[in-house]
Amino acid sequence: MNDIEHATPDVDLCNECHAGVMQPRQITYFTWLGEELITVPHFPAWICDVCGRREYDEKAIQWLNMILDPNAGKPTKNQRRTPPLPRPRTGTPRPIQDS
Ligand SMILES: [Zn+2]
Repeated sequence: MNDIEHATPDVDLCNECHAGVMQPRQITYFTWLGEELITVPHFPAWICDVCGRREYDEKAIQWLNMILDPNAGKPTKNQRRTPPLPRPRTGTPRPIQDS
């Protein structure tokens, strides 16, 4: 019996081309936060070595969303309030003390 099969290593075949293998890479992740472009260097991703399809690490995405979304992942231990930044007012009426 020549039934020796090499145990397939734990590889993720590409869902797009079904030929390539998703390779773990670190890329620079771009995302928009409102009108601000956020770049995250060394972001874990999986890149297909054939068609170049990208898949991002789910945990990393969640982590990123938690960081970028101030409403998510509120700290429960340290309830430290950060006061809003004072905005420079223009045209503040000031009483002129003339004495
Ligand atoms: Zn592919």
